[in-house]
Amino acid sequence: MKTQIIKIDPLNIDHKKLEYAANVLKSGGLVAFPTETVYGLGANALNEKAVKAIFTAKGRPSDNPLIVHISDAKHTDKLIKAMPKNAEQIINKFWPGPITIVFERSKIVPDIITAGLDTVAIRVPSNPIAMKLIELSSVPIAAPSANSSGKPSPTTAEHVIEDLFGKVDIIIDGGVCQVGVESTVLDMTLEPNMILRPGGVTKEQLSLYIKNIQLDAGLLQKSEDAIPKAPGMKYKHYSPQSEVIVVRGNVKVLSRKIKELYTSYVSTGKKVGVLITNTENKLEYSDINNIDISGSLEKTASGLFKALREFDEMNMDLILAEAVVNEGIGLAVMNRLLKAAGYNVVNI
Ligand code: AMP
Ligand code: MG
Repeated sequence: MKTQIIKIDPLNIDHKKLEYAANVLKSGGLVAFPTETVYGLGANALNEKAVKAIFTAKGRPSDNPLIVHISDAKHTDKLIKAMPKNAEQIINKFWPGPITIVFERSKIVPDIITAGLDTVAIRVPSNPIAMKLIELSSVPIAAPSANSSGKPSPTTAEHVIEDLFGKVDIIIDGGVCQVGVESTVLDMTLEPNMILRPGGVTKEQLSLYIKNIQLDAGLLQKSEDAIPKAPGMKYKHYSPQSEVIVVRGNVKVLSRKIKELYTSYVSTGKKVGVLITNTENKLEYSDINNIDISGSLEKTASGLFKALREFDEMNMDLILAEAVVNEGIGLAVMNRLLKAAGYNVVNI
């Protein structure tokens, strides 16, 4: 398939170019586009054949449902059975933005979108290119992350090109995604409401509006009795090719301990890199392979997937990743790191 790359400036949108891409979407094509979280791979959500092509292009398992993206909250009604009582407040507060809400679905939502579930996941993205593209297409857009299934999500158009060039009709290059981790998935069909995937909107932010909000027990641990409720969260996912070990412990001694681990793995012939997420003592790593995404938790989140892809380009055998706190967007960072590591954690 011939893939067109179309560059669009999010601060000065060329409407002609977007209209062209929106028409391709509407008529059943696949268009990758930037959102504020990660790049999405879009198709007309009401066109089964187009949605099927998403699964093929990504190599995505068919039991993993897709998020439906709309340009305005007012389009939610026709996709759902009923609005849960506190959903309107969450929508008013956080849409457009990095939170996806799971509702009971209406009949117009094709089975292929929901992987046969009775629920549908919906989001209004805030990235101006995403919003305008969806609005111009005049249909709801199914859009999972625009990566090959299992690889770290794409936060630049280059990442999408690496994974999907030749497999989709259009890749819109709209620059770097700001949030850098995927949307929070909040299931409002469950009482109490439950976070099925931590993401751009934090648990702390949601707790201001939802009493007793729950976190799916399968998100930060691997156990037989805690299988994640969001089907996509059960896959070893967000993974670079190299093995990942998350190292957790007191930041005062973390870098020293990681250097010890580094030395012992290097002595076995492995090519090892360190993912730096803490600011303390990071100078200790100056003589070894590292990628530094330390700073605010927001900065760490926005650089995470890019760093994992860069380690792959460096052909690392092993990444030793500094853990972050499970607070704010740190919860999403830890969830992705733990999944990338297959829950392989060293506590020091
Ligand atoms: P992605 O599209 O790659 O960002 O992944 C979407 C995530 O949302 C996956 O983890 C899906 O399993 C989850 N998801 C989508 N629809 C539903 C739903 N109806 N119920 C629960 N989780 C969902
Ligand atoms: Mg994904």
